[in-house]
Amino acid sequence: MKKQGKLIVHTGSMFSGKTTSLWRELYRMRIANYKIAAFKPAIDNRDDDKKIVSHDNLELDAIKVENLNDVLDYATKHELDAIGIDEVQFFPNDPTEVIDIFNELMAKNITIVVSGLDMDYKTRPFEIIKEIMPIADELTKHHAICASCGEDAWASYRKSTDESRIQIGSKDKYEPLCRECYNQMMSERENTKNQISLEELGE
Ligand SMILES: [Zn+2]
Repeated sequence: MKKQGKLIVHTGSMFSGKTTSLWRELYRMRIANYKIAAFKPAIDNRDDDKKIVSHDNLELDAIKVENLNDVLDYATKHELDAIGIDEVQFFPNDPTEVIDIFNELMAKNITIVVSGLDMDYKTRPFEIIKEIMPIADELTKHHAICASCGEDAWASYRKSTDESRIQIGSKDKYEPLCRECYNQMMSERENTKNQISLEELGE
């Protein structure tokens, strides 16, 4: 049976279960005898080289690639039915190029299951996710639990004051917070920063 290609997107904050959902989706396809492969960006060095490991330690063999063109080449060459792409926001491709690649994959009847962060630690949207959400066939926004109050989390709060946009880490570096707790933490941090700079000025 020829299956039509679709785009399935799992997004949300860190620890929201995105990778677990990606894994579950691919696992079902494997049972249905789809020819599948999973990919992750070469930059993601948290775990084992060849595996996608979710925070609850479900494992899936994954191929590390530099960019999404490699995914297109691999999927075409191996005549895959479906692919999984973890941490899509870390790929260096331009968002319009991503759309072209995804459309080409789907035109070949390859289903794409994507997992990616919706926002960075400053709650600025990741461009790739912003571009692919409207063209998705299925879209799920996942929520972790706020580490501070237990509400649905909204953002990935970075515990350190490191300012680089991409800082690979897990619970050592991030915690999920709801909107209210996140905003409170950020304003407290801003106040501390202002206080320090006033002290430096000798005020
Ligand atoms: Zn909260």
